[in-house]
Amino acid sequence: MNRAALPSRLARVREAMRAADVDALLLSLGADLPWLSGYVAMPLERLTMLVVPAYGERAVLVVPTLEAPRVVPVPDVFEVKPWGETEDPVEIVSGLVGKLAPSAPVLGISDRAWSSALLKLQASLPQADWVAASGVTAPLRAVKDAWELEALARASAAADRVAAALIAGEVKLIGRTEQDVSAELARRLHAEGHERVEFAIVGSGPNSASPHHEPGARKIGPGEAVVCDFGGSVDGYCSDITRTVFTGPPPRRLERIYTVVAEAQAAGVRAVRPGVPCSDVDAAARDVITDAGFGEHFIHRTGHGIGIEGHEDPYIVSNNSLPLSPGHVFSVEPGVYVPGHYGVRIEDIVAATEDGPSVLNQASRALTVVDV
Ligand code: ZN
Ligand code: ZN
Ligand code: ZN
Repeated sequence: MNRAALPSRLARVREAMRAADVDALLLSLGADLPWLSGYVAMPLERLTMLVVPAYGERAVLVVPTLEAPRVVPVPDVFEVKPWGETEDPVEIVSGLVGKLAPSAPVLGISDRAWSSALLKLQASLPQADWVAASGVTAPLRAVKDAWELEALARASAAADRVAAALIAGEVKLIGRTEQDVSAELARRLHAEGHERVEFAIVGSGPNSASPHHEPGARKIGPGEAVVCDFGGSVDGYCSDITRTVFTGPPPRRLERIYTVVAEAQAAGVRAVRPGVPCSDVDAAARDVITDAGFGEHFIHRTGHGIGIEGHEDPYIVSNNSLPLSPGHVFSVEPGVYVPGHYGVRIEDIVAATEDGPSVLNQASRALTVVDV
């Protein structure tokens, strides 16, 4: 976490709140809270909530007393209000909101706050209007500053080293279960500097046709496609990479699919420029796959933004007309999935810059046979 950035973030958030007529943000679970305070709430039932008024007052972090020692104070940004086991945190938050000027405040609540907390707050503040905090925070969070870009580059470089080991045949595949290989990829991500591993998808043979396959007891055989999609976080910022390798020379149609997906991925990356709508990046990748006759087998969007969360704005999808700005960071990850047979996906993280795309992942995208 780069706490030096927090005061200016808070200033920008308040400006956006005032423009959107939001009187206070109530930030609980989810990435808005760490992005604005440096503090990650524990995902338990006790309420943690940063109350951010649009005007005047300081922000207040309402936090369970037993978790307060985890808070690193940032006095320019918030004061800490611990609550004891027999206190009612909803009453505390409602009291803070009640001190704000309007009698019918507009309150922006974290997209990922527990509904149990929201329901109690709604009962306690019947006059309030509720909106999603992401309406204010998501567009700001989507544009990364220099420190965040470096953190994302470090995370991608660490994931790259694991992908390079996979491609070099250092991760044994044939005869091992998907679960086993998944655990090794996770161990390697940790060894390369990830403080957290979020997922390590290993889909082999017919399972490679399921984009979000849960690695299981299936043993990887020779001559199969193996989709490996893994990531986690370094310094609070996420990595996410997919490489598809083959445990033997692929049949001609599968080889063709690999070539098409690689071309689609490169076309998506090439389309990245400031001002280009997200939908155009999706179309650039999708057109290659459609033109090759595999359009019906590309069953997901081309990509998603990445930052403190693995999936966040901007989404690279056909109905998103948002123009790219320098500082937007997202995946470009087309895939072709033939149910019952095989699938291929290639994924890199890309940052939009003034000069076009900056690809944060460098692991080889060449068709690779690793018969180990
Ligand atoms: Zn995915
Ligand atoms: Zn991925
Ligand atoms: Zn992804």
